[in-house]
Amino acid sequence: MQDYSEKLEDIYDEKLGRHLVVSLSIEAGETLLEEQPLLVAPHWECDQLKCAQCLQESYVICRKCQVFPLCMDCSEHDAFECEFFASGAGSGISKDLLIKNYGICALLKLLLLLEQPDKRVQCQILLERPVKLEDYRNEEGLWQEHEEHVVRPLMDSGLAQALPDQQLTSDALHAHCIRIDSSAYEVTARDGDTLKGVYVRGASLPHSCVPNTVVALDEQFNMKLYAAVPLESGSVIYTSYTNPLMGTSQRQHQLRMTRHMECACARCLDATELGTHMSSMKCRDCSDGYAVCDLAGTGNWRCLDVSCGAVIPAADVHELLAEVGGALVDAKGELSAYESLLTQHKQLLHPNHFLLLDIKQNIASILRAAALMNSLNDPCKKLLARRVELCADLLPICRAVVPGISKLYAIALFEYLLSFVELSELQFAEGDVDKKEYAAQLKRAQSVAKEALDLLQFEPENSAEGFLTERIAMELERIESDLMKYGKH
Ligand SMILES: [Zn+2]
Ligand SMILES: [Zn+2]
Ligand SMILES: [Zn+2]
Ligand SMILES: [Zn+2]
Repeated sequence: MQDYSEKLEDIYDEKLGRHLVVSLSIEAGETLLEEQPLLVAPHWECDQLKCAQCLQESYVICRKCQVFPLCMDCSEHDAFECEFFASGAGSGISKDLLIKNYGICALLKLLLLLEQPDKRVQCQILLERPVKLEDYRNEEGLWQEHEEHVVRPLMDSGLAQALPDQQLTSDALHAHCIRIDSSAYEVTARDGDTLKGVYVRGASLPHSCVPNTVVALDEQFNMKLYAAVPLESGSVIYTSYTNPLMGTSQRQHQLRMTRHMECACARCLDATELGTHMSSMKCRDCSDGYAVCDLAGTGNWRCLDVSCGAVIPAADVHELLAEVGGALVDAKGELSAYESLLTQHKQLLHPNHFLLLDIKQNIASILRAAALMNSLNDPCKKLLARRVELCADLLPICRAVVPGISKLYAIALFEYLLSFVELSELQFAEGDVDKKEYAAQLKRAQSVAKEALDLLQFEPENSAEGFLTERIAMELERIESDLMKYGKH
């Protein structure tokens, strides 16, 4: 891991808590931070045992400690973890501890790290992070989940007695659970399952829905943080802990639930959501007006057309959103259900509304899966054209919500590229377009592929994005060889 500390300064203030600012001017793509995870563990609710070493599915238990799961490929795991149980330090603890309560895995790993003086120093920033237990205690969801899956089984196991220096109480364990949750990024194991990667520095960045950095994770779960846009010296660095394709009300709800925070970023304070209108409604009174939320005042939606100014009560909007949200769950991958939802709600919502985008993405992914299985025979061109159109609709929105170097936009470009090339090839093969038109389409595909590659150039090779880069490069090669063939007049 390289040290980039000359570029960063640790700052503390009331509003943001501990955070980082850049101490020189930084170019887009420049690395700001590299960090190994403090620990990687399954989610609390996971009940499939994972190898303590590589985190793939496990069906055997380490013979030495007889506590931690291993997989067929791994013969050992962290020496301290193993030795702790093998040496009998936790002798009063049932060997079935993890088999019976696999949810405790992440917390158990943290507690064992805290037993090691050098690791404890590494965890200091994490341990210093204030946790207001009162904010969580009265909440049904999170507290209850931690209590049932983690805290109670650990307290009942006798581990607190085996780690006397840590003075573990049930409240102390709850605070650790919250610290783990708020320092975790979702990481993907080699078998495709998602896990929690806990990072100390990378996860202490303040949130913005319009972040100025990108988080890259490689196959070993190492994190690299790089600038998404040029940064002036003194800029606070932000990351995002929400999905940019959600509307403001959804993002804020998620941030409240998971991080107990209210976001006041440029996007959250802008009723048009950076001009995308991802939460705007169609006006009910005039034919082409759009209504946006009166964020600073009533909270109702009001038509932007000053000569109209019609109001849609907030309660009506929320009711509609809940209804469509429910219908989306009920649609359960059924193409016709999504299509009818789209037709029904197009009349009420702005074309860029996040719910319409959600419906459209569902349709596009069904069409993509169908194309992969070759289950579309004759109506192929029509459905392919539909897929191209759906992917194209998403592009300007992805571009607007994550400025600068954006993986979201790169992936959207890739999806568009695949469908566009497939359609163009079919149109050419069936004589719908001539050589010249086909060459023009290939040129367009070439520029889309190059743009996507440009956005992914700072991602590590051994990462999901690295593999995507290879995939796009192959596609570009194919496009360019066809261009050589058909591009000459
Ligand atoms: Zn393994
Ligand atoms: Zn072991
Ligand atoms: Zn925000
Ligand atoms: Zn109106």
